[in-house]
Amino acid sequence: MTCKGCHSEKQSVYNGEVAIHFPGREGLEKPIVWAFPKLVVCLQCGGSEFTVPERELQVLEQGAPVEGAVVFWPRSDANPEPGKNGRKSVSEETN
Ligand SMILES: [Zn+2]
Repeated sequence: MTCKGCHSEKQSVYNGEVAIHFPGREGLEKPIVWAFPKLVVCLQCGGSEFTVPERELQVLEQGAPVEGAVVFWPRSDANPEPGKNGRKSVSEETN
C-alpha cells in the first residue's frame, strides 16, 4: 500500500475511534456518530484513511439515529422511540 498523499510505503494500521459531527449550526441538532474503524496512517506525512462502517454511514445519510449505531442525539423531541438506537445520551436545554 502506498500513501495517496506522498506515495510513501511507510503506512501502518491502527484501531480508531472517531466522533463524526455534522457541519454548521444545523449540525448541532443532528446526531454525533461514533465509529471504530481501522485507520491506515502514513508515518511519513500523517495522511490517514478509514472507511465509515455501513450502519454509521446510514446515520450520516439520514441525519437521524439508526438501530445499533452509537450516537449522541441532542434532540429528545425529535426521536419517537427513545432507547432503541444503541447507547445515547440526551441533553435537554429548556429555554
Ligand atoms: Zn504520506
